[in-house]
Amino acid sequence: MPDTFRDNEERNRFELEVDGTIAFVTYRKSPEAITLVHTEVPPELGGRGIGSRLGRATLDAVRTQARALTVECDFIRGFIKKNPEYKDLLAQGEDALAEAAATYKASCFCGAVEVEVTGKPVFAGYCHCRDCQEWSAAPINAFSLWKSDDVRITRGAADVGTFHRTDNSYRKFCKICGGHVMADHPRMRLTDVYANLLKGYTHQPTLHANYGSKMVTIRDGLPKYRDLPAELGGSGEMLPD
Ligand SMILES: [Zn+2]
Ligand SMILES: [Zn+2]
Repeated sequence: MPDTFRDNEERNRFELEVDGTIAFVTYRKSPEAITLVHTEVPPELGGRGIGSRLGRATLDAVRTQARALTVECDFIRGFIKKNPEYKDLLAQGEDALAEAAATYKASCFCGAVEVEVTGKPVFAGYCHCRDCQEWSAAPINAFSLWKSDDVRITRGAADVGTFHRTDNSYRKFCKICGGHVMADHPRMRLTDVYANLLKGYTHQPTLHANYGSKMVTIRDGLPKYRDLPAELGGSGEMLPD
C-alpha cells in the first residue's frame, strides 16, 4: 500500500499513513497562521525515517498553504534546524518569541490566591477522569499543562491548601473560598492551571484525556484518548469521536 499524506482538518493534524498506521503532527490553524504543536510517530513505525518524511511533508504543506508558521513541537524544531531550507517558513519568529514570553494570571473564586504562568502550555485539552469529575463536581476539566517551573503563586501562598489522592496529582485550592486553582503533577513535572481561570488566555485544546470515563460525549473532532497520550505516560489508545 502506498504511503498517504493528508491534512486532516477535522482532527487538526497532518497525517502520514504507512501500512495502515498513522504518524501525525497536530496543529492549531487560523486563516493566516499555523502552529505545529506536537508530533507522534507510533512505535511500530520507528526506525524507518518516518518522522523525517512526516516533517518534510508537513512543512511542504505549510509552504503550500502560505500560513505564517510557529513551532511548539521540539521534533519539528529539530527537523528545521537540520533542514535549513525550511527556515524561511519561520518568518514570524519574533511573534513566536513574543507569544512564548506571554504571562497570564489566574485567581481563585475569592481572589485571595493568585498564580502566574509564563510561556505556553505543553498540552491543553479536556480531562474526563473520575478524579477530576469528583473533585470538581463537574463532568469535564479544561486543563492547560505548564512546565511546573513556569508556574508561580504570586499572592496568598499561605491560603493554598493541597490534597492528593494519588501521587500523580496534588490538587491545590483556596482555603478561604474553596475555589480550585491548579494541580501539580510531579511525575510529569507539569502543573495543570485550570484553563478557564487564566485571564486573557485562549484555551486551544488539542485532545481529550481519560475519555474512557466520560460523563458527556463531545463531538468536536479532537483526538479522544482512553487514558493519556503515550508521551504523558498513558497507553495512547484512541477512542472514536
Ligand atoms: Zn479564594
Ligand atoms: Zn483528570
